[in-house]
Amino acid sequence: MTEKIHWADQIAHDVKERVQSDDTLKKIVRKHGYIVLDEKTPSGTIHIGSGRGWVIHDAIAKAMRDVNMKGRFILSSDDMDPMDKLPAYLDKSYESYMGMPFRNIPSPVEGYQSYADYYFMQCVEKFEEWGIQAEIESTGRLYESGAFNESIKTILNNSHLVKNIFERIYEKPYDKVPFNPICEKCGKIGTTLATKWDAEKECISYRCEKNLVTWAEGCGHEGTISPYNGNGKLPWKVEWAAKWISLGVVCEYAGKDHFTKKGSRDVAIAISHEVLNFPPPHPSTATAIGQGYEFFTVGGKKMSTSKGQGVGFADISAVLPPRILRYLLIRTRIQAAVDFDPHRPNDVILLFDRFDKTERIYFGKEKEENEMDRESQKRIYELSHIGELPKKMPVQIPLSLAANTIQVGLSEQGAIKILQTLGHMPQDLTGIDLHHAIERLRDAQQWITHFATDEYKFTIQDSPPHLDASPSLKTALREIPNLVRKFKDEKQLHNAFYEMCTERSIDMKDFFRTAYQVLLNKEKGPRLAAFLIMLGDEKVSRLFSQL
Ligand SMILES: [Zn+2]
Repeated sequence: MTEKIHWADQIAHDVKERVQSDDTLKKIVRKHGYIVLDEKTPSGTIHIGSGRGWVIHDAIAKAMRDVNMKGRFILSSDDMDPMDKLPAYLDKSYESYMGMPFRNIPSPVEGYQSYADYYFMQCVEKFEEWGIQAEIESTGRLYESGAFNESIKTILNNSHLVKNIFERIYEKPYDKVPFNPICEKCGKIGTTLATKWDAEKECISYRCEKNLVTWAEGCGHEGTISPYNGNGKLPWKVEWAAKWISLGVVCEYAGKDHFTKKGSRDVAIAISHEVLNFPPPHPSTATAIGQGYEFFTVGGKKMSTSKGQGVGFADISAVLPPRILRYLLIRTRIQAAVDFDPHRPNDVILLFDRFDKTERIYFGKEKEENEMDRESQKRIYELSHIGELPKKMPVQIPLSLAANTIQVGLSEQGAIKILQTLGHMPQDLTGIDLHHAIERLRDAQQWITHFATDEYKFTIQDSPPHLDASPSLKTALREIPNLVRKFKDEKQLHNAFYEMCTERSIDMKDFFRTAYQVLLNKEKGPRLAAFLIMLGDEKVSRLFSQL
């Protein structure tokens, strides 16, 4: 087995090998390309956990295209699924739609075709920002187009095989006709019970039951209907398999909870292999389930769409910029859990710092002696980069420095001026470099405003406070403006403080603590020497010379 440096390349490679050893798959790929599928029920606000799957599938399709495989990521909205829970944030009037397919429920916001359309588009509209390239599909539209007709027929004609699979896996009787028609009278799909399949006329008889499910009430209608062209849907574990053969899917991951023994993937694999005669997509085979991806949690909590918990995919950019979050997801092996808490300073600062380091390694500005690590970092940068890769390294400002300067400078322009004075950035900053600098300053501002702990937040005082300090300490503090004027280098200035305190027998800790009190009305702050240089002569003088 060939070992690839990045998981996305490894998966692309494994899928290719698999396809080459299977004539059915070879034929499909020649016709449709390598289809990587993901799907999502638009039952409400879609949380960031789903975003992990989308980035994974996007990266796999990209890795495929990088080695001239025709990788295509298709994301399908499972909009034929019935509404079975009312999200807490929705108006109670939506209760009357319980049991109806999401695509037939009106949008809570004007301008969208349906409920499904609204919640799905909230995410899809962000894909460009996230660098996700996906072909967007609607499962309902696929049903309507007849794409599933053949699979529906095979499944209904072989419902004894479906029965065997369910009974074997779940060890309890299964006597359903595996199809859910949409009731012609009340429009609900969650309440119908198919009672008979007439293989000759190709018709399904059904009843719309009052008490089939607890979350919706049927109208009692009885009817006979064709199962084709969008008149209903397959139960979802069966539908999953039908999608694979109907679309020609060769790769599809899902959260690890689906990949357990007796889980949904287990059933779908059996249906695909035994009923539809189609090899289940990577990472599954006819005989092995494979492994799904680990959860993405925020602050240790797994999020649920229906409970309205957690961070929505569409809102996550308020927590972390997409390029940084994408980097986090690309650099993490898919079987490793990702937990991110924007309130933990280390999570945020370290993540930005790691991103910057990866960027420096990519552009050869930082040495990484280990060749494997170097190549791995470069590949992570390529796969996580959004848009065209830059020719030269963008200007970098570490997040903590950006946070300090934006608080001292009080505006982006002010902060840039400080960074230029410090020699951190060239004076003639233009175009893309200016864009990158402003981007990082905005990230810092966002973090400071919403998530940073007090330790990182400060306000420069306007006038010197009344100090309860010894005369010798006060005299030393009054020396600060002179030293700042004399030493423009952090290390030299720090040494000057040290020497002064030693000569005058002043406790260094007291000196620092009191200086922060004067500057910020706090006992701690950013590294003092660098901070004073950043503040500039005038402010330092105003605060310290008259103590
Ligand atoms: Zn009905």
